[in-house]
Amino acid sequence: MTTDLNLWFDPTRCFIGGEWVKPNGQRTLPIENPSTGETIGAIARGEAYDVDRAVTAAHAALDGEWGRMSALERGRILTRIGQKVLERVDDLARLEALDVGKPLKQARADAVALARYMEFYGGAADKVHGETIPYLDGYTVYTLREPHGVTAHIVPWNYPMQIIGRSVGGALAMGNAAVLKPAEEACLTAIAFAAIAEEAGLPKGALNVVPGLGEEAGAALSSHPGVNHISFTGSVGVGILIQEAAAKNVVPVTLELGGKSPQLVFEDADLDRALPFLVNAGIQNAGQTCSASSRILVQRSIHDEVVARMSERYAALKVGPAASDLDVGPLVSARQKEIVSGFLADLGGGRIAAQGRIVDGVPAGGHYLAPTLVAGIDPSNRLAQDEIFGPVQVVIPFDTEADAIAIANGTDYGLVAGVWTRDGARQMRVAKAIKTGQVFLNNYGAGGGVELPFGGIGKSGHGREKGFEALYGFSVLKTVAAYHG
Ligand code: NAD
Repeated sequence: MTTDLNLWFDPTRCFIGGEWVKPNGQRTLPIENPSTGETIGAIARGEAYDVDRAVTAAHAALDGEWGRMSALERGRILTRIGQKVLERVDDLARLEALDVGKPLKQARADAVALARYMEFYGGAADKVHGETIPYLDGYTVYTLREPHGVTAHIVPWNYPMQIIGRSVGGALAMGNAAVLKPAEEACLTAIAFAAIAEEAGLPKGALNVVPGLGEEAGAALSSHPGVNHISFTGSVGVGILIQEAAAKNVVPVTLELGGKSPQLVFEDADLDRALPFLVNAGIQNAGQTCSASSRILVQRSIHDEVVARMSERYAALKVGPAASDLDVGPLVSARQKEIVSGFLADLGGGRIAAQGRIVDGVPAGGHYLAPTLVAGIDPSNRLAQDEIFGPVQVVIPFDTEADAIAIANGTDYGLVAGVWTRDGARQMRVAKAIKTGQVFLNNYGAGGGVELPFGGIGKSGHGREKGFEALYGFSVLKTVAAYHG
């Protein structure tokens, strides 16, 4: 079956200690193409035994060639991986489109971002230093930034390449040895990445990949006593389990969880500039984005105009198979479609303002759903409170700046906010008052720059990845105080 995918690696194997090995249980999981609903291959179903082998191999790498390597050399290898990823962008995009249903252009952007992460972290690897601290007479005190040791990376299916880039890339740059557990719905590019890293000369055991189910391989990895740091990106519910598991072994954890991110549109906003951001931030990747902007808060005086202009854009959106590269692809699974449809089944007083169009002739087994703009929703409604994780945005009117801030801050989440106003003082006030990890002024997402630290507060998680902050997070500070008289 796997030959249809034209693979240059065997996804039914785990990558452990530099070897491609069958999982101990010899079991596999099916790969579904969300655009058709067809099974197109199989991936390894790793379990606790395989995770244990991977953690052991990672420790061996730290004691071996990888652990002895200079930061400069580590950086060069990461840079080389980035270059090889770039050579494979089209292959990676094709695999991601098949595996996750992402339109090809968006999948391509993810592959380019993965390369960019490797380039950034490759260049940064030898630029993270400690400091010297003036202290008592007779002492010299300095700090060292050292790797945690073995880092676990549990990633979701929505942006596998980007999340692997920002998390595994940062960990390797700081000299950790990584064990990666990709999501069962989206393993192909993770395994491809391991093959590329091997080709680029990454020493054995520095990166290990164990595909498998969350409750099997994922749970075994997060509770493994040999793991020294956990980076988890995924849902709040599983994030809580991960933090509990980390607490039992007293290891640090970075949690990148969900969001209900607002864009605040004030009456003096440049609407021509704002409009594409307002809509794209909700429908990109079929809304299956942690930082999706699922709430659009609009000052009442321009509310109807914004709804009308967003509706025009919605009406022009086309939904279809990933390979046809339209605006929106299918949702990742039947389950995800059912969850999103469940939200739309009860609008709680809201009304559908506009919907995109599923093009004619899409395969019957694909998980297609028309992007939907909902107006007239109360901020307390579950559509305005819960992460929907699909192509659905709600529009909520507000009267004053204070109201807008209260509504924006009125969910359990705190990932991203966008603010649209020409008033510079208001930009500063609102940016300060909003409780999120990121605030974008007159833009949304800042083009996803890998240099920009990223993370949440509240139920959106804690810890930062991307930028130099990630490198601080993937290292531990040691203070050395020398008395020399
Ligand atoms: P999920 O929590 O179901 O799964 C994420 C990963 O955890 C998968 O690899 C899964 O196999 C694993 N897992 C599941 N159960 C586990 C367990 N008991 N122990 C250990 N691991 C387990 O999330 P998902 O549905 O794949 O992804 C969607 C969620 O991810 C959304 O909530 C989204 O907002 C969030 N997300 C957040 C960010 C961010 O940066 N903040 C980025 C992308 C996605």
